[in-house]
Amino acid sequence: MKNGKIELVNGDITTMRVDAIINAANSSLLGGGGVDGAIHRAGGKAILDECIQIRNKQGGCKVGEAVITTAGSMPAKYVIHTVGPVWSQSKSGADQLLANAYRNSLKLAVENGVKTIAFPNISTGIYHFPKEEAAQIAISTVEDFLAQHGQVEKVIFVCFDEENHMIYRNLLSRRPFPIQ
Ligand code: ADP
Repeated sequence: MKNGKIELVNGDITTMRVDAIINAANSSLLGGGGVDGAIHRAGGKAILDECIQIRNKQGGCKVGEAVITTAGSMPAKYVIHTVGPVWSQSKSGADQLLANAYRNSLKLAVENGVKTIAFPNISTGIYHFPKEEAAQIAISTVEDFLAQHGQVEKVIFVCFDEENHMIYRNLLSRRPFPIQ
């Protein structure tokens, strides 16, 4: 499914042929489960080596921020590691932090000449962010960014589970320019 510069795919982000794939990392940058584990497994040791160098320089990555490394042996050129918020009903500000994770990943992409980008559904796995709300934040943050940065050619939302895929399909089909 395609909607302007936004595309929707149901699959594994490690196989995407784009300039940069985004990783839903944790603040340690040392790898973890979910998409983070899949990316480190698929890309190989070069990614962790660069993450360790970044840790040594700046002490990890704060929630809502992003860092960039090689994609190792994956088809993409770069991995942009961002840290989404852990969902908690009692804590406000999670929405803003999730939007920051998308926005700062896109900013870092542009700074590195990246034109095509694939995002996983940040925070909706182990971090338990409600999927519908996370999808709304993801889509509107990406749309706002695309409206201001013409150099980005394509953003692919890669959904791994069927629930997220359906949520994105519904939301994107109600936006302007749906092609399918
Ligand atoms: P978080 O800690 O940010 O919640 P997770 O990795 O647990 O990160 O989950 C984020 C999303 O990534 C989830 O929707 C999960 O289904 C999805 N995911 C897991 N593996 C992959 C993969 N190989 N490609 C794309 N998405 C994936």
